[in-house]
Amino acid sequence: MKTPPFAYARATELGEALEMLDDAGEDAKLLAGGQSLIPLLAYRLARPTHLVDIGRIEGLDGLRESDDGLTVDALVTHANLESQVGLPPQWQALTEAAALIGHYPIRVRGTIGGSLAHADPAAELPVVAMALGADLLVRSIGGCREIAVEDFLYGPFMTVLEPNEMVVSVRFRPADAARRSAFDEFSTRHGDFAFAATAVAATFEDGVVRDVRIALGAVGPVPVRVHAAESALEGSDLSSADIAAAARLAMEGCNPAGDARASGEFRRELVEVLVGRTLRRLREMP
Ligand SMILES: Cc1cc2nc3c(=O)[nH]c(=O)nc-3n(C[C@H](O)[C@H](O)[C@H](O)COP(=O)(O)OP(=O)(O)OC[C@H]3O[C@@H](n4cnc5c(N)ncnc54)[C@H](O)[C@@H]3O)c2cc1C
Repeated sequence: MKTPPFAYARATELGEALEMLDDAGEDAKLLAGGQSLIPLLAYRLARPTHLVDIGRIEGLDGLRESDDGLTVDALVTHANLESQVGLPPQWQALTEAAALIGHYPIRVRGTIGGSLAHADPAAELPVVAMALGADLLVRSIGGCREIAVEDFLYGPFMTVLEPNEMVVSVRFRPADAARRSAFDEFSTRHGDFAFAATAVAATFEDGVVRDVRIALGAVGPVPVRVHAAESALEGSDLSSADIAAAARLAMEGCNPAGDARASGEFRRELVEVLVGRTLRRLREMP
């Protein structure tokens, strides 16, 4: 289908993009990789009056590790994340999740900023952001603010972003070098949106785990942490029995709705399998 009409402008630097967005009013949209927005336009599910293209702004596509954690700029693509094989193991869930997003042509265009701003409940990166702990740096011409991912996402395809705000980077909170993380999902074909997804992270200390974080995706309006399963694993040596008990708690801690692709009950069973599988992988990581 043809897109509805809109005015188009390409920004070459951040300040210019923020001005354009502000000037264009509340029915304007940023265009990053276009992998979610363009299909929405084609199906006429979005009718912005203006598109501000930020895809070619220089200097917004870097990754930096520091005492503040891992900062990933908004225009870093899924393919770029996927190729970060040299990242320390505590960030592994990020590279694993990026590799499972859509197909390669989508991953070379789609961006982390776009994925979080789009807030698809089945998207991979918001789940990882919940499990690793992340804050979004958001800017407008009026200033900037930092928003924890738990506060940023509030419903399916809904965030607290104001129309004149842009996600500039995502900062994954500092993690102990002994932390490990992993991601897994189930979909019928590689590249399809997941029926259920999980990201887990935990720090290993003297053979037991601390600070366990388990996030689930595609089983509710936004990614959720399963605190009961996390607490049950604190101080565990990740024995098979402990993992099975935590996976069961994770399943009991979610109540996904069914749809044409999968029933709610099937998604819950997937949660149990996926949480068990990712925790076993965590246990085996060097
Ligand atoms: C066939 C197909 C399969 C896909 N499969 C998956 C999948 O399995 N998993 C998955 O997660 N995604 C999937 N996607 C979507 C893809 O990952 C997108 O790349 C991603 O959701 C959005 O990133 P983008 O850069 O393309 O954003 P765009 O499409 O450019 O924008 C999406 C939305 O975010 C806003 N936006 C973009 N950047 C910013 C910013 N920096 N600050 C504020 N707002 C911003 C836009 O205004 C728009 O509302 C798929 C897409 C297609 C076409």
